[in-house]
Amino acid sequence: MSIRVAVLGAKGRMGAEACKAISETKDLELVAQIDIGDSLDLLVSSAAQVVVDFTHPDAVMKNLEFAINNGINVVVGTTGFDEAKLAQIKSWLANHSKVGALIAPNFGLGAVLMMQFAAKASKYFDSVEIIELHHPNKADAPSGTATRTAEMITDARRSVKKAAMPDATSSAIDGARGALVGEVPVHSVRLRGLVAHQEVILGDLGETLTIRHDSIDRTGFMPGVLLGIRSVVSHSGLTYGLEHFMDLN
Ligand code: NAP
Repeated sequence: MSIRVAVLGAKGRMGAEACKAISETKDLELVAQIDIGDSLDLLVSSAAQVVVDFTHPDAVMKNLEFAINNGINVVVGTTGFDEAKLAQIKSWLANHSKVGALIAPNFGLGAVLMMQFAAKASKYFDSVEIIELHHPNKADAPSGTATRTAEMITDARRSVKKAAMPDATSSAIDGARGALVGEVPVHSVRLRGLVAHQEVILGDLGETLTIRHDSIDRTGFMPGVLLGIRSVVSHSGLTYGLEHFMDLN
């Protein structure tokens, strides 16, 4: 039997792409396309089992509260989640033990793998820095993906008690060494012609390793969105990050 899926933010760039991908997928049924001004009651009247949210950081919490309280699983691509918002979602889920919520900062399977590989590799190198490169219309710097990668690398390095990275810089122009996220310097490039790219450069005596991911088109997020939809129906509670639905051992 197919999974009944609704999309919130259906007229947006990501939402429209998600609607197309879902409607072209045999084991999924697109039952509602909701955008600003439409009633959330459509989620209930369409008997959606999963709602995919690609709206706006200011709108997403209200949507999630409604969906969870109505027993609907959620797959969320909208960005801007912090500890307080995640705790709020957990508290809603606590009253609905069968409902699953996936919050995925990045649905790109390649991007998720890049983050995982980088974190694993960082245990074996003295130095690691991140360069993220995006189109010039991006509002936030560093990107959410770069921030998450830096956090994962910091955790991995701390787990093996890596010493501080070597860096003899004693004078620098502000920003020249990037922004420090955890232990990792992150450099943000904003350049006409780019889409969304990231390099993690690792270095040790006599060798370097560069792990690079390029997001070329929004279609690249769709296999991850479909994986999220299929997985969330059998995973109740809060899942943060698509990697938990991937076999990475
Ligand atoms: P977008 O083109 O602006 O689309 C958002 C859509 O949601 C718009 O049609 C917007 O309507 C609508 N909307 C706003 N509030 C709503 C509400 N309360 N209920 C229903 N619809 C509402 O943005 P986008 O590029 O698709 O990105 C959407 C979100 O996904 C952003 O947070 C972005 O950072 C994130 N994103 C995540 C990933 C990932 O892999 N996790 C990848 C790409 C983007 P109006 O235009 O009328 O306001």
